[in-house]
Amino acid sequence: MSPDARPPQTAAGHRSSPEPPAFDPAVTPGPSADTGLPFAAAEAVIASASSIGLVCHVNPDPDALGSLLALHNALVQQDRPVTSSFPRPFKLSKGLAWLPGAGEIVHPEHFPETVDVLVTFDAADLERLHEFKHHADHASTLVVIDHHRTNLGFGHVNLVDPDAASSGNVVAALLRHMDVKITPAIATCLYAALAADTGRFSFRADASTLSYAAWLVDCGADSSRVAEEIWGSAPLGALRLLGEVLVRAEFESDISLVSSYVTNMDLVSHGVDRSDTEDYVENLRMAVEAEVACLYRELPDGHVKVSLRGRGRIDLGAMAARHGGGGHHDAAGFTTGSFGHARACVTGSLAPLASPSPSATSPAPGIVRGPCDT
Ligand code: AMP
Ligand code: MN
Ligand code: MN
Repeated sequence: MSPDARPPQTAAGHRSSPEPPAFDPAVTPGPSADTGLPFAAAEAVIASASSIGLVCHVNPDPDALGSLLALHNALVQQDRPVTSSFPRPFKLSKGLAWLPGAGEIVHPEHFPETVDVLVTFDAADLERLHEFKHHADHASTLVVIDHHRTNLGFGHVNLVDPDAASSGNVVAALLRHMDVKITPAIATCLYAALAADTGRFSFRADASTLSYAAWLVDCGADSSRVAEEIWGSAPLGALRLLGEVLVRAEFESDISLVSSYVTNMDLVSHGVDRSDTEDYVENLRMAVEAEVACLYRELPDGHVKVSLRGRGRIDLGAMAARHGGGGHHDAAGFTTGSFGHARACVTGSLAPLASPSPSATSPAPGIVRGPCDT
């Protein structure tokens, strides 16, 4: 579609009528609250808290941030004493900074030392909260909102639904329980969370997911702006670097792996912020030859962040967990000391799982080896 053919963006959503639809379970699609999760307990502790802190996992993605902001906006709407933050590096990509309420998020330095109730979003374990692990340890009540299968429930109240398409779905069910009015701002945050964690409605996109999405749009979610800001725009430098990352992709047919890497030098030479490289691995995942896509990204301290994406045969969440990380079946990650070690972890884990293939022992011809080989 040419840019001119795109529908005009709206600032405040599509809904023409001022009132969002009331949630009537008999007729309204949307998140089910019948999951057996302790929504009443979560509602009660939040209602009686003298201070409420909201935090999500490090390097927030749209689900982490969108689910946090949905509850943040709801609590602000109810005049509740809420403070929201996320771990250092305290940086949101441009694609997320516009989400309603993002401007109210405070730097970790300004987050209260102790809060009555701390709510965590989209973090499968305490380590993903970095410096907020301390706050979690000291909160009178810890409420955990998540959908990672590996989440063992590290809170006092655990709203963890591994069947939820996004953490935002769990928040939506909680808001429904709390009888919160779903404003366009809240709907937009929940829609961003859902769209991201369904790969823009490419997986987990069953009828209930799609009717929930439609309900959010009916509540005023600005779906066009979510698509345009999060996936439809990037700095030119980030696009150029993506080009390089794809050119140096390496395919190892014996373990059905396509991989590439980003160094700190790459970021400097293209003037790119690390947060603008979060989605690069999705482009690698498109390589039809490979069952697993892997992107190694150097961190400021020289450690390497490994992002894994799959096509269903291999449980990458379990694989990443063996290396100190975690995630979902088809999207997972971990962090380790160097490119060499990261590569050894990935190839070593995939080798025993490889499907037998007669021709497969060496990388595809013409591949330029990168620092992951060291
Ligand atoms: P990413 O590759 O960073 O986009 O992450 C993909 C998935 O893996 C997300 O669901 C993350 O929550 C999860 N994940 C990534 N890194 C880690 C880690 N170090 N520990 C636990 N889970 C992770
Ligand atoms: Mn996440
Ligand atoms: Mn998620």
